Amino acid sequence: MTSPQTSLGLIPDHRVPVLLPYPFAGPFDYRVPPDLDPQPGDIVLVPLNRREEIGVVWDAPAGDPVPAHKLKAVAAILDTPPMNESMRRFVDWIAAYTLSPPGEVMAMALRVVSAGITRPIVRYRRADQLPAVRLTPPRQRVLDALARQEPQTATDLLKHAQVSTAVLRGMTEAALLVTERAAPAAPFQPPDPDYPGPALSPQQQEVAAALRDSVAARAWSVTLLDGVTGSGKTEVYLEAVAACLRAGRQALVLLPEIALSSQWTERFQRRFGVAPAVWHSDLPSRTRKITWQAVAQGNAPVVVGARSALFLPFPDLGLVVVDEEHEAAFKQQDGVVYNARDMAVVRARLSGSPAVLVSATPSLETVANVEAGRYAHLRLTARHAGASMPKITLVDLRETPPDRGRFLAPPLIRAAQETLARGEQAMLFLNRRGYAPLTLCRACGHRMQCPNCTAWLVEHRTRGELLCHHCGHTIPIPPECPQCKVKDSLTPVGPGIERITEEAAQVFPDARRLIMASDTIAGPHAAAAAAHAIEAREVDLIIGTQLVAKGWHFPHLTFVGVVDADLGLAGGELRASERTVQLLHQVAGRAGRAEAPGHVMLQTFIPDHPVMQALLQGDLDAFMASEAESRRDGEWPPYGRLAAVIVSADTALMADTVARDLGWAAPRGDGIMVLGPAPAPMALLRGRHRRRLLLKVRRDVAVQPILRAWLGSVKVPGGGRVDVDVDPISFL
Ligand code: ADP
Ligand code: ZN
Repeated sequence: MTSPQTSLGLIPDHRVPVLLPYPFAGPFDYRVPPDLDPQPGDIVLVPLNRREEIGVVWDAPAGDPVPAHKLKAVAAILDTPPMNESMRRFVDWIAAYTLSPPGEVMAMALRVVSAGITRPIVRYRRADQLPAVRLTPPRQRVLDALARQEPQTATDLLKHAQVSTAVLRGMTEAALLVTERAAPAAPFQPPDPDYPGPALSPQQQEVAAALRDSVAARAWSVTLLDGVTGSGKTEVYLEAVAACLRAGRQALVLLPEIALSSQWTERFQRRFGVAPAVWHSDLPSRTRKITWQAVAQGNAPVVVGARSALFLPFPDLGLVVVDEEHEAAFKQQDGVVYNARDMAVVRARLSGSPAVLVSATPSLETVANVEAGRYAHLRLTARHAGASMPKITLVDLRETPPDRGRFLAPPLIRAAQETLARGEQAMLFLNRRGYAPLTLCRACGHRMQCPNCTAWLVEHRTRGELLCHHCGHTIPIPPECPQCKVKDSLTPVGPGIERITEEAAQVFPDARRLIMASDTIAGPHAAAAAAHAIEAREVDLIIGTQLVAKGWHFPHLTFVGVVDADLGLAGGELRASERTVQLLHQVAGRAGRAEAPGHVMLQTFIPDHPVMQALLQGDLDAFMASEAESRRDGEWPPYGRLAAVIVSADTALMADTVARDLGWAAPRGDGIMVLGPAPAPMALLRGRHRRRLLLKVRRDVAVQPILRAWLGSVKVPGGGRVDVDVDPISFL
């Protein structure tokens, strides 16, 4: 960059917009110094408030009115792969859709870079021809250290030769040392698409061929792959992954709970001969850096990850698979509130590749998209190798209740005993952690509540604590009622998984038991160990929370007892029925996946409820159709759009004031409706007072412009905040 003005001491007005990883409204302009030529996507260092920050050169000019001479200059362009166009558009898209500051979205893509990945590894070696210069003792030590060994990093060399960095710098300038960039190791072996896979059934072949075609088309498409549990959906979409590998492009597979999905990675390894790159937020930071770098350089052909893997810098993404697409775990609730299932579709569109949504129990949203012709539909109708679907029966708890103080009814106990007697495995499912959801004083009726949240404290007996599942507040189990001070009067009400385990120990004393809950299965290793113990038949009885519903394949498991099938229906939320059917169907799907037939028993007080009937008859399609009808009438999603506006504040008064102001300023118009304000069901969460409003609009109305105008019209005082959740799935 030369300009005649520079020689006159004037500053040319050459500027670039730089997006910083903070919740600013947009990028800031920076001056481009003559020796740099930053391009959109370049990762740069820029000054910000007397510090240097990492940012990304953005596309649209910031429209900053700051005069050129006041602009700060770009300090450096970092030696790291730039953020490509499709990722930048992805960031803009999410920001616009979720009403999040673009920098906050971009931060998710940049987090690893800013953790220091940018420093290239430099190694020193002796120059081949040593110049004739005098060697000081330190310099001699450096050369001696290098005489014996391979090239060394500065850190190693400083240690071995006991010198300072200045010595290394001086020696490099004097041409005694030569630096070389360490070639980036390829940490992931390339998966072999031609590694022998299983022989597919004719129907599986047909579906696999359709998926391969969509990969070969190198164009955006969305396909729902739906099929009963155990029908081979995973085997089939791995064929699409193979096609993607053959085409030399990268594939991304999103799983809702990847940290616990050891079986999936083992399966991948059987199909492709090597392990995939894994991505989730619990990885050690070093592994994250290596993986990020490998993805950026195209050296990680397949990544399986949690929702954050959407922000990895794939240079040439050729396929995105979302397995268990119906899972609520794909929704991120903190920070940028987004649904990774939906954003995966956007990511695929922006990179011109197919998206495949996979589920045995697809969400109503996805089904509606299929019906409207927006998504293609592929279906596997039978379990692999002739395994039958499990038989489902209901236990009417009104007619055959459990014994007093117990939770397992006689028919369930009998069925489980018979299973165990045959040498098969049984599972008890209850989606509730801890010992009891409520602790009550028998003397005065006092209930143990969290001081920070609208929630009961949950007894965790093994830990000797009462725990809030929302904020983590804990207290030791008190010896007396804190209210009336009567000793030993606190009593647990209702069952949690620990209590069922206690009961199971009495009812099935000889069964080898394993508890699968987030409190006992702490991470990938524990999950893998548990899965192996079950596969190796070292366990007879599995007792689990929703953790056991995830795609596990346990061939010897033939009985599943659901302790409380009604549990998810209690709140009466919009998706309560849909979610309960999905969860229970998935749990049921664990039974009878191999030769021996499976049996599932649901304990319920409401056997006539449509959810129980749908499960009993195994007719999810009919259930979803009637669920769709009921939503269509009221224009609820997916036949209308929702956005939640959540007010939170330090005081109830401020929360009420802001909520009331929002209520007064509520948008009006054809097809627009605002519900609330009302106290949130969690009116107090982590010590913050919360109020909710719900914007509901017709499907053909976009919520974002309405929200922007609405929220922009209300002033929020310090200590208060307004969060937006577009397409909410939780209404707490
Ligand atoms: P889904 O994902 O639909 O629940 P999976 O892909 O997990 O079904 O298949 C269930 C089990 O059947 C797995 O152990 C899988 O390896 C096996 N399987 C599926 N299809 C085949 C096949 N064609 N040949 C051999 N095994 C298969
Ligand atoms: Zn709490």
